[in-house]
Amino acid sequence: MNDRQIAGLWCSDILESFGEYLEENISEVQRVAVAGHLANCETCSLFKEGFLELLTRARNTVRNDNRKSDALVLQVEKLIEEI
Ligand SMILES: [Zn+2]
Repeated sequence: MNDRQIAGLWCSDILESFGEYLEENISEVQRVAVAGHLANCETCSLFKEGFLELLTRARNTVRNDNRKSDALVLQVEKLIEEI
């Protein structure tokens, strides 16, 4: 993974606090820093898009079929490894 520092945050910081960011469970200062990083970091913005897509799919899948959720977990792990 190519860890870069943009807007005062490292890619690894973004990935670590990503769940909290999506839930808006972070301070305004942190949120602005994360948004600034995402706007200037292709890797993290692609991760965000992929993550949101998987999250949406996961929600739909879990609703429809619990057995498919294992496959989605593997997909998320693969996505994280690719960064
Ligand atoms: Zn990044």
